[in-house]
Amino acid sequence: MTEHAELWAALAEELPAALALRRLLHTSPDLSGDESATRDAVLSALPAGLPLTKVAETGAVVRVGGPGPAVGVRGELDALAVTEATGVEWSSRAPGVMHACGHDAHLAALVATARAVHRMGGPRALLLVLQPREETYPSGAQDIVESGVLEAERCEAMIGAHVQPVLAPGVVACVPGGVNASADEFEITVHGESGHAAYPHLTRDPVLALSHTVVALQSVVSRSIDPMAPAVVGVSSLRAGEAANVVPGVATARGTIRALSTATRELLHQRVTEVAESVARAHGCEARVTLVKGEPVLENDPRLVARVSGLLRAHGLEVSETLRSVRGRLLLLRRADAVGHAVREDPDRLLPAQRPVPPQRRRRGPPRPRHALRLPRRLRRPVNQHRRSPADVDTRRSVASM
Ligand SMILES: [Zn+2]
Repeated sequence: MTEHAELWAALAEELPAALALRRLLHTSPDLSGDESATRDAVLSALPAGLPLTKVAETGAVVRVGGPGPAVGVRGELDALAVTEATGVEWSSRAPGVMHACGHDAHLAALVATARAVHRMGGPRALLLVLQPREETYPSGAQDIVESGVLEAERCEAMIGAHVQPVLAPGVVACVPGGVNASADEFEITVHGESGHAAYPHLTRDPVLALSHTVVALQSVVSRSIDPMAPAVVGVSSLRAGEAANVVPGVATARGTIRALSTATRELLHQRVTEVAESVARAHGCEARVTLVKGEPVLENDPRLVARVSGLLRAHGLEVSETLRSVRGRLLLLRRADAVGHAVREDPDRLLPAQRPVPPQRRRRGPPRPRHALRLPRRLRRPVNQHRRSPADVDTRRSVASM
């Protein structure tokens, strides 16, 4: 048996314990920033005596497999503020909190991997990165990187796997380059001069200026960005005035900017600012633009993807090469969709090392409870009934370089 085959077999032996740990973690979810209990439960399931560094307040980094260069594997500690309605025996006991994003499965898989490598040895040492605050910004990942622990531990590659309900069991999305879009927000405040709405010539109307700005912003992606570069600029919030007969002095818009490359992201920031300032000036007003940077583009390293893809295929998993999270608004829909799916259906079958379930077995089990999460009507359908193209599918952190 090759080294990898031995590890694969050792991992399979860990599955029953991983399933039990997943269910245990599922019963006691913690919200972002409050994950100490989950971290400690994971640590106590690991082999005793492993070198451990606590980091980012409620996180930890654990070394498995001796000194030297290491491969980091990330597992997220936090759950979501949603109410579970799966009806399973191991349902969440924390009111309004649920591991609906699959982080309990990630952690159980991480522990199984660590135990298998600890027992069998591996081609490289592993760094288990127990990351807090994945669901909020700034994320715990940023704190872990800034702490310097990864350099100190000689982490040379980082892998983050995430369950994805829109993929069939046994299929792994693993693509090089940009996978998840950067997610930034902007606020445009247009200052004019207020006055009576019956005397518009005596005012400088920020509402009209901002209305033109919203329309003009739609030309940023269509005329400033390469059609081959995915990008989104969207205004989602408008605020101005109180009375129907008063021109207000200020109008405000807020929106989102998404891009799949750093160059596109920077160009979008520049063009949104230029358009807002110029259009306001054309209407005798002044615009101030505030940009709030969120998560950067998630770029998968091509060499790591090539290596991982080969190993996945060698062990009988199907590798999808076309799935990406590209479209900002669709990303939100898919996330809501995925959450709705998880709230209704227990994801035990999504444990990474689990063999694909034959199609005729997938629909068995107790009837699904009705939805407890109040999703929009269009989302109250099984996930596989949504129209989608491969490019629509959110592959959040399927294989992630942090
Ligand atoms: Zn997640």
